[in-house]
Amino acid sequence: MNKNISRRAFLKGSIAAACTISASAVPCTAQKTGREKHLATLIDIRKCIGCGECVEACREANAEKYPVPKKPFPKMYPERSKPEDWSDKKEDRDQLTPYNWLFIQTLYLNINGEESSLTIPRRCMHCVNPPCVKLCPWGAAKQFENGISQIDDSLCFGGSKCKNVCPWKIPQRQSGVGLYLDVMPSLAGNGVMYKCDRCYTRLAKGENPACIDACPEEVQTIGPRDEIIKQAHALAKEINGYIYGEKENGGTNTIYVSPVPFEELNKAAAKGEPHLKTVHDTMSDANKLASAMIIAPFAGAAAAFGKYYKSAKNS
Ligand code: SF4
Ligand code: SF4
Ligand code: SF4
Repeated sequence: MNKNISRRAFLKGSIAAACTISASAVPCTAQKTGREKHLATLIDIRKCIGCGECVEACREANAEKYPVPKKPFPKMYPERSKPEDWSDKKEDRDQLTPYNWLFIQTLYLNINGEESSLTIPRRCMHCVNPPCVKLCPWGAAKQFENGISQIDDSLCFGGSKCKNVCPWKIPQRQSGVGLYLDVMPSLAGNGVMYKCDRCYTRLAKGENPACIDACPEEVQTIGPRDEIIKQAHALAKEINGYIYGEKENGGTNTIYVSPVPFEELNKAAAKGEPHLKTVHDTMSDANKLASAMIIAPFAGAAAAFGKYYKSAKNS
């Protein structure tokens, strides 16, 4: 399916039906059986020319959501985690930051004796069963019915749990912003975590994510997950290629297809960059499942408190 077909699907309403985010963006937890309602993207690695148009589009589309920190940052007691400040590195496009939710990973490879390189757009994988959502103690990370995961910047305390449990360490923290400044500036959290929210407000209006529309090579295709998986298999068969994301972390809503095995791509990834390793289903781990069950009611209460606090403050 190319981007045009994908867009037709939007117009026909099949994606609109899958996307139940309203204009008020009330989140709801994905049903266990709701995988078929998930939206996924297929990323054809062969097509990416590394132009960075998608990165620029993401920055422009999300600029209003970027943090505006207050300085100096509060001193933490005890000094558990150092404040993180990216506000002087807003122009950095070479890694994930609170001000850059998508970057182009360049991998230098030797393919059949020839030096070569591949460029890959990297951002949140939007896991089908996201540990960042299930294990957020403040109820600030949520998953919509269409599979998108999002961190609510007005509820996040920036404790970094989501990053710690993310297999790819995607969310990034900015200190000096968020609820912790009002509630417990020296005792809990340390800012707000930021990551790709798959342009959920654009999707709610029937538009594509900004990075998809901006790409001159039509590298990404978006559609219902089951269709995207079928396309990924057809493409992998056609090019004798490989798939990443179908099974990683129990399945993600970002599916990469590559002409080169992902083990080879992973070896070429620079230290500190998101990897391309095989990832087992982290939420099937008994300890994590138990933690999620214990956290859920507290997270719900914390989120309710956060919302109440926010509305009381604004009124
Ligand atoms: S990739 Fe990481 S941040 Fe994104 S949904 Fe999965 S666990 Fe959460
Ligand atoms: S889906 Fe939206 S937020 Fe995510 S990388 Fe693309 S443009 Fe950025
Ligand atoms: S806009 Fe498309 S071709 Fe350019 S870097 Fe992004 S994904 Fe690759």
